[in-house]
Amino acid sequence: MESVVLDPLEYRIDRPSLLARLRLKEGSGHATKVEGLIREAEAVAHPRAIYRMAFIESRGDQHVVAEELRFESRVLKVNLDNLHRFFAFVVTSGRELDAWANVKTDLLEQFWADAINQAVVISARSFLDWHLQERYGLAKTARMSPGSLPDWPLEEQRVLFELLGDTRKTIGVELTESLLMVPIKSLSGIVFTNEEGFASCQLCPREDCPGRRVPYDPGLYERKYRDPSQTSHLGQS
Ligand code: SF4
Repeated sequence: MESVVLDPLEYRIDRPSLLARLRLKEGSGHATKVEGLIREAEAVAHPRAIYRMAFIESRGDQHVVAEELRFESRVLKVNLDNLHRFFAFVVTSGRELDAWANVKTDLLEQFWADAINQAVVISARSFLDWHLQERYGLAKTARMSPGSLPDWPLEEQRVLFELLGDTRKTIGVELTESLLMVPIKSLSGIVFTNEEGFASCQLCPREDCPGRRVPYDPGLYERKYRDPSQTSHLGQS
C-alpha cells in the first residue's frame, strides 16, 4: 500500500485541560491572554499526517522485516508477534504554527505558544488514531515510537522515514542528520492492534516525566519481552 496523506488533519484544542496543564485559573488575566493566543494559533494551524500500512514479511528474535525494511527492536517484535501488519506514521502541527510560535519574543508567551503547539500535535495524533480505527476497522490500538525506549533507538527513525517516502514534500516534515524532526512539534511511530493496552511508559523507569501515560511496570520486560537467547536487559536504561 502507498503512503496516505491527511491534509488538513483535524484537531481540537481542549482549553480546560491546557489551562490545567499551564496551572492557570479559568477567567484569570493569564488565562485570558492564553485564550487570545489560542485564537491566533487556530487562525494559522494546519496539521497534517502521513501514514502507510506495512505488511510484515519475516521476523527474527530481535527484529521484524516489513516492506523490505528491517526494524530492530525486541519489544516491537514481541508486540507484533501475532500480527501481519502495522501502520507507520508521522504527524505534525505544521510549519505554519511553528512559524507563529517562533516569532513570539516575550518569554511567557513563548512558553504558552509552545504548549499550544504541543496540544495541537497531540490532538492531531488522536484524530489520526481515530481515522485508522474507523477506516481499517481496528479495535484497540497501541503505539511505539523510535527513541522512546533504548530497545528501539532514535536511529530507527531513518527506517521509519524511508518507509513513508518524501515527508518533506508531502507534509513538510524533515528528518535532520541528528534525527530530530522539523517542525519540532511532529510525532512519529507505528500504530498496531493491541488488546492489552501497551504503552512504552510501562517499560520506562524515568521519574517525574510530564509525558508519562501509565505507571512503570518493573517486571514487565522480564515477564513478556526478555529474549531467552540473550542475557542482556535491553528494554530498560
Ligand atoms: S515515561 Fe516519559 S520518557 Fe518514558 S516512555 Fe513515557 S513519555 Fe517517554
